[in-house]
Amino acid sequence: MKKVYRLSCGKWLNKKQFFEYFEKKVRKTIRKFKLLNNENKIAIACSGGKDSLTLLYVLNKLYKEKEIFALSIDEGIKDYRKKLLRKLKSFCEKNKIPLAVFSFKKEFGFSLDEKTRKIKKLGLTNCYVCSVLKRWLLNKKAKEMNFPVIATAHSLDDEAETIILNLLKGNPELLAKIGPKTGTTKVKGFVQRIKPFYLHSTEEIVLYAKLKKLPISLAVCPLRGKTLRVNVRNWLNSFDKKMQIKNNVVNAYLKIMALIKEKYKSVRLRNCKKCGFPSSQEICNACKLLEKL
Ligand SMILES: [Zn+2]
Repeated sequence: MKKVYRLSCGKWLNKKQFFEYFEKKVRKTIRKFKLLNNENKIAIACSGGKDSLTLLYVLNKLYKEKEIFALSIDEGIKDYRKKLLRKLKSFCEKNKIPLAVFSFKKEFGFSLDEKTRKIKKLGLTNCYVCSVLKRWLLNKKAKEMNFPVIATAHSLDDEAETIILNLLKGNPELLAKIGPKTGTTKVKGFVQRIKPFYLHSTEEIVLYAKLKKLPISLAVCPLRGKTLRVNVRNWLNSFDKKMQIKNNVVNAYLKIMALIKEKYKSVRLRNCKKCGFPSSQEICNACKLLEKL
């Protein structure tokens, strides 16, 4: 059988072996970081992009005994989101996975497209606004629908970027907020977030999706600007041994994660005065944004 993937130890895997390796790694990540306990329902945050569609497929395959549900946010980026949502909808129908889509327009009264000028004027980036509002809305909906956890498709590449990014921003306390499992069950209103692809590289995810012939899209968001994250991504990708470097960054972080979380645990979460959601400030970032926009 044709070899399709080379492990870092040098061993080549054929298609069947690669599927086994990939799926075993998902189970191992979930066990190692105790991402799932006895939850019988899992919400999966799905943009319709390559990573989240693959996550949806693999969790649905491996955890048949659990109730899998796809949650998606339509932020209103013309053409781009519509196409992804169409693919996601037909994928969910085919695989009998329930899907709920919530839109910025309906929830906040505006789409992201309508606010790009204002966002620029405020000196903010589309990516920042989109991510804060999306996170808030996902948490709200998952809470309302009684989901104990939200699984997101963050990969090893994403995590390595975030670690470097927080250091470059001089914000070590943000490092306390990341890791394979984020959020706390101790504060009212928080739905814990888990990352089953924490140890998977983006390359592995794309290869798995392609070999499984999943209807993935490699389209890039048209509103994505030249953010610091993109620079960090390009920089990490510029190394010869880029995967080894990303592995090193994430493994180094995992070694000190407990210490960092302990150090910053005094940054107590409280409930936002406006929306009641967990926040480290009196008014949460989402409510602050909604006021300004
Ligand atoms: Zn709030």
